[in-house]
Amino acid sequence: MHEISIAQSLIDILNDNIKDIPVENNTRIVNINLKIGKLMAVVPESLEFCFEVLTKGTIMEGAKLNIENISIKAKCNNCGHEFIADDYLFVCVVCGKSDVEVISGQELQIDNFEIE
Ligand SMILES: [Zn+2]
Repeated sequence: MHEISIAQSLIDILNDNIKDIPVENNTRIVNINLKIGKLMAVVPESLEFCFEVLTKGTIMEGAKLNIENISIKAKCNNCGHEFIADDYLFVCVVCGKSDVEVISGQELQIDNFEIE
């Protein structure tokens, strides 16, 4: 199950981000805004479930994940055309070559989060 490793990476990134913040007993992370590329093929429900399980008893317990999907974008190495490949078709729509480079869609980043 790949969502569990993604949830773990998110927790690692968050832990890294909050280590300089003075944490009190009642400090909670309430909202986490994420950007996830469509190539990551994340099922939001699974990710939320894994996150919930892994954060039980931590400062992140009960935090809401707001997921923004980033489109898959590719660039043709032959003619330089950039196109959206959300349908996983990595063929240039202009010249028909499949020599393309993925330029977005592999993101896994935390945009920001809210602490209460
Ligand atoms: Zn092309």
